Amino acid sequence: MADPKGFMTTPRQEYPRRPVRERIRDWNEVYVPGALLPIIEKQADRCMDCGIPFCHDACPLGNLIPEWNDLVSRDDWRAASDRLHATNNFPEFTGRLCPAPCEAGCVLAINQPAVTIKNVEVAIADRAWEDGFAPPRPPDRLSGRTVAVVGSGPAGLAAAQQLTRAGHTVAVYERADRIGGLLRYGIPAFKMEKRHLDRRLAQMRAEGTKFRTSTTIGTDIGAAELKARYDAVILALGATAWRELDVPGRRLSGIHQAMEYLPLADRVCEGDLEVSPLSAAGRHVVIVGGGDTGADCLGTAVREGAASVTQLDIYAQPGTERDEDADPWPTYPKIYRLSAAHEEAGALGTAPAADADARLFAASTLRFDGDADGRVRSLHLVEVDERRRPVPDSGRTLPADLVLLALGFSGPDPHDGLIDQLGLELEPRGTIARGTDFGTNVPGVYAAGDAARGQSLVVWAIAEGRAVAAAVDRALSGAARSRLPAPIGPYDRPMTA
Ligand SMILES: Cc1cc2nc3c(=O)[nH]c(=O)nc-3n(C[C@H](O)[C@H](O)[C@H](O)COP(=O)(O)OP(=O)(O)OC[C@H]3O[C@@H](n4cnc5c(N)ncnc54)[C@H](O)[C@@H]3O)c2cc1C
Ligand code: SF4
Repeated sequence: MADPKGFMTTPRQEYPRRPVRERIRDWNEVYVPGALLPIIEKQADRCMDCGIPFCHDACPLGNLIPEWNDLVSRDDWRAASDRLHATNNFPEFTGRLCPAPCEAGCVLAINQPAVTIKNVEVAIADRAWEDGFAPPRPPDRLSGRTVAVVGSGPAGLAAAQQLTRAGHTVAVYERADRIGGLLRYGIPAFKMEKRHLDRRLAQMRAEGTKFRTSTTIGTDIGAAELKARYDAVILALGATAWRELDVPGRRLSGIHQAMEYLPLADRVCEGDLEVSPLSAAGRHVVIVGGGDTGADCLGTAVREGAASVTQLDIYAQPGTERDEDADPWPTYPKIYRLSAAHEEAGALGTAPAADADARLFAASTLRFDGDADGRVRSLHLVEVDERRRPVPDSGRTLPADLVLLALGFSGPDPHDGLIDQLGLELEPRGTIARGTDFGTNVPGVYAAGDAARGQSLVVWAIAEGRAVAAAVDRALSGAARSRLPAPIGPYDRPMTA
């Protein structure tokens, strides 16, 4: 702790966002380029270096937060990068995308604004790349053992990097045409520009990880063939089975799942398409679902030039302060949060029927109406109470000619041939069943990430990838313990009261 009084003398200062009118005209990240470095050492100084750092426990990766806060505040960026990379393969991803449960668990947050941990993390990660502190780390020698990773999201990539560095020969199979899972197709570029992903992939290639795109395991390569070719197989298939909204009018055209819509916008950014075939330009957009995926649709629709955008959330609007009974410190509280996308839609006033941030809370969709051509034209909703009972006389109609469903995901695609071919056991909620060693019911086949945990977060996916790598390394080497760290077990969950 370079300055023991830092938390008393320096107020919390956030990474400044670009003006709304400027940033909605492009797909770049919403922050002011270069605005973090001048403030971040003082921000890191606010860390009190508490005896028991709850931030460290709240982070699924067990990031050594007080250590790197101290190193940053002392201007030792190389050492900070080493400590950060000791627990996190991809801090430039989490530093941009993580909801930062660590900050909810920061001891300072008991009675003051938390340390800007996530911003310190991204500053270290970006500086590491700029100053060459993140070179490829190929293994000293090869083990002669081979591993196939199916799925190239953050879980698959973290597992592949750990196992490659441990000396195993690793190939990552991906059915999409590019590597990255939801980091590539799903999460919009205004949250994380794809160049960060490409730079990591170049590092992984230089270390020896092989990538095979446009290859669906279960179709292009059968499960039995894959198993026969490799000593171990890791399934990091993601949770792609989306939830449906069974209300009258659902089959009208113009109603799409968020994950049918968002990847097309990513393809525009990648230069594959000039315009998205589902573009929101000039359309009245209603997003059903109040979560982050819905917010990503909101920011995308605003950038595409929607005539209006409204996001419906079935839950009541949460308060701005932590409810100490329901979500006591250091758990992650359910509070009102204004994401960059909500700020944009609110500032633009594109949601005539909704509140200032384009959200309608406690709103339940009753039905859609269409025109003579079978196209959706309006959405009917009703306000609901906390038990989801309709509030009398609260019905309203919104104009809607593009409806995006963002209702969450249950598990991997149940029709994925791979699951049947392997004879995998599934949990009742649809995720891949696994034991304490991340192994499925099929010997030599492991499962990690959203496919086994259920819909989660990038930070959990990276932690899953690191942990499954440790389990596979142990099995392949026959040793009692792996040299690789395992930050979580398969049944660990976020801290709750
Ligand atoms: C729109 C959206 C936005 C999100 N935003 C955030 C955010 O801001 N912050 C955050 O922390 N989390 C966010 N999440 C959640 C986060 O992206 C996921 O938790 C994380 O990506 C899961 O990683 P994964 O590696 O398990 O799976 P995924 O990233 O889903 O990757 C799985 C990959 O497996 C491939 N695959 C599946 N089956 C096969 C097969 N048979 N053969 C070959 N390949 C196959 C798929 O094509 C896919 O590329 C978001 C999720 C969505 C949907
Ligand atoms: S990965 Fe997430 S929880 Fe962990 S230190 Fe970074 S922002 Fe915090």
